[in-house]
Amino acid sequence: MKKNNKREKGAYSKYSFQSVKILTINCGSSSIKYKLYSFPRGKLIASGLVERIGEQRSPISTHTEGMKLVFDKLLAGGAIKHIDEISAVGHRVVHGAEEFRQPHIIDKRVIKKIKECVNIAPLHNPANLEGIKAALHTLPKVPQVAVFDTAFHHTIPDYAYMYAIPIKYYKKYKVRKYGFHGTSHQYVAQKAAEILGRPFNKLKLITCHLGNGCSITAINKGKSVDTSMGFTPLEGLMMGTRCGDIDVAAVFYLMNKEKLSLHKIDNILNKRSGLLGVSGISNDMRPIKEAARKGDKLSKLALDMFIYRIKKYIGAYYMILEGADAICFTAGIGENNPELVAKIKRSIIKIIPKETKILVVPTDEGLMIASLTFNILRNTAGAKKK
Ligand code: ADP
Repeated sequence: MKKNNKREKGAYSKYSFQSVKILTINCGSSSIKYKLYSFPRGKLIASGLVERIGEQRSPISTHTEGMKLVFDKLLAGGAIKHIDEISAVGHRVVHGAEEFRQPHIIDKRVIKKIKECVNIAPLHNPANLEGIKAALHTLPKVPQVAVFDTAFHHTIPDYAYMYAIPIKYYKKYKVRKYGFHGTSHQYVAQKAAEILGRPFNKLKLITCHLGNGCSITAINKGKSVDTSMGFTPLEGLMMGTRCGDIDVAAVFYLMNKEKLSLHKIDNILNKRSGLLGVSGISNDMRPIKEAARKGDKLSKLALDMFIYRIKKYIGAYYMILEGADAICFTAGIGENNPELVAKIKRSIIKIIPKETKILVVPTDEGLMIASLTFNILRNTAGAKKK
């Protein structure tokens, strides 16, 4: 631990904060998405993707090898002349459970805690840990920060995050709503405040992140007060391959009828449901819209269900917030399907006053992660100086 602190102190003291390059890493089980920004302006210098890590016949067998490739690409593209130019790395970590309410500088304690969260996020946190290990291996002297998808939602009150099951399961296993896409909801809400020209902490906002994964958040005075995803990203809206809200008794029924194992039903609900499951065509909005346009009934049904559930959540959150200054749409579907947003808008404006703005705000989770990393770096350096 002592050794770590020494490393950190040395690492921070060299920054002038006039020109700092920050790398963000979003690690999946077989991919590394990266973006390099220069701060304080937050300018994107380079971005890219390393894929097929650990897959059969892939030349890249580990995340450490993948990370080396990231640096080779940054060097070859001229984004950096030497890897020493990178001042910090910001990592997206999906699940921070109750432990992490804000970004944290990664040390042994933080890694241990992220490992403990693997229990409740078996799909995501292991890949995020691989990315952290690989980056620490390649850049051992550079401060690294974990930014959690769940952290923005830590302000949700207990009556909204608790499930109505025996309390002992919360006490024993921390089964509750956590919420995800936090960096995106926070970024979009802050941008919306800029667009509206009003202070973030005075606004009531509903942010709709509609990508492959979809979630809606109610934000009151800068704080998340409810969100549609739950203990895992499965709850809430209909998504590309996830079913969203479902009566759990229907799940038991299916397991019994089809003699499904836990693994199989988990796979069906997470990977074979949603837009893909209903349309039978794709998890991607584009071919579904095309098929619906040509008269495919199941694609039309999938689209109707998708839109219906969004309207339902917007209505619920409008009620929870007792009004809204803006309803914001973002991510792949939210940003690129004006007719879908218009359809939702047409039903919203029948009930919601015209003062409530409907905004399309492109998300930038990479920039949010980089900004949070830059801030924590600057604050830590400031604290160390004092
Ligand atoms: P992820 O959650 O994987 O980051 P994205 O935010 O990229 O997902 O969103 C993916 C979804 O956005 C897909 O359903 C895709 O069809 C849709 N999408 C992306 N670009 C467009 C576009 N130009 N027109 C219509 N839909 C789009």
